[in-house]
Amino acid sequence: MASLFSRIRAGLAKTAQQIRERLGSADDGPAPVSAAGAPAATGARATSVETLEALEDALLTADVGLPATDKIMTAVKADRSGTLRDRVGRVMQRILTDVRPAPEVTTTPHVVLIVGVNGTGKTTTVGKLANLHRTSGRSVMVCAADTFRAAAVEQLAVWTERAGVDLVRAQMGADPAAVTFDAVSAAKARGREILLVDTAGRLHTKTNLMAELDKIRRIVGREVPGAPHEVLLVLDATVGQNGLVQAREFMAASGANGIVLTKLDGTAKGGIAVAIAYELKLPIRYIGVGESIDDLLPFDAGAYVDALFTEKW
Ligand code: GDP
Repeated sequence: MASLFSRIRAGLAKTAQQIRERLGSADDGPAPVSAAGAPAATGARATSVETLEALEDALLTADVGLPATDKIMTAVKADRSGTLRDRVGRVMQRILTDVRPAPEVTTTPHVVLIVGVNGTGKTTTVGKLANLHRTSGRSVMVCAADTFRAAAVEQLAVWTERAGVDLVRAQMGADPAAVTFDAVSAAKARGREILLVDTAGRLHTKTNLMAELDKIRRIVGREVPGAPHEVLLVLDATVGQNGLVQAREFMAASGANGIVLTKLDGTAKGGIAVAIAYELKLPIRYIGVGESIDDLLPFDAGAYVDALFTEKW
């Protein structure tokens, strides 16, 4: 199995290539010295206006978004230590880690709701996440609370079987909150450490969907102290900036407190992680880098930034 870093790097290859193309001939020298500052070290080059423009263009094209790009450009111009690459990396990493911390797993079962719009990779993510927890030695149960999509439940059955974890499911069209209640009872009875609940991504109206999520939240909260302990919002990285709009809607209604960013392997918009962290202050918890069961990786800000800037520029 390839190292975690090489897998993150492979997943971000398209974004890294885009950045490299725009900054390939950039002068990656130390920052310019202001009139009031100390003289530049011998041989030091100022970062040219062209390079700064190329950097700004690369960040925006990677979907870092205007607010975070402005923040990065300001920091890069003010920071005078190290190469341009170092300076960009430092501020990006700061943005990615200056977010709400992920909740610790202290309760059994630790209840995680997985929310998001259909097509983002929600069902696949639940399967991958079950597998990830299972292979790291945790006992897992999955609840198919999206009772409106038969195909999604069948897909989940295949994934959970492959991962070797229990699936609680119900008749199509059954009350999602009732299935969730059954799953919580089963997880408690069997002493499962993690309960992953796959929720619906679409109902007749947005109001219905949000009311449904709220009902599920209340049910699990009544049955397990502090639950849901995590609400992970699945966002498709290929959607780019529109993902932020989805995120805001779901944050308000579902209390999402973490993000799973999927399909990074298929896009050059990997900078969206920075926009999410900067604008929503939500931690990216996992990234999806392919369609296989082991293509979900825990998010690591340092590795992510390194993978975006793998080559010198
Ligand atoms: P849902 O409607 O949100 O439940 O989405 P699905 O889980 O059914 O996924 C939709 C499609 O996206 C499927 O073809 C998945 O294989 C694909 N998919 C999910 N995650 C990833 C990922 O990280 N990378 C790639 N390349 N495809 C993904």
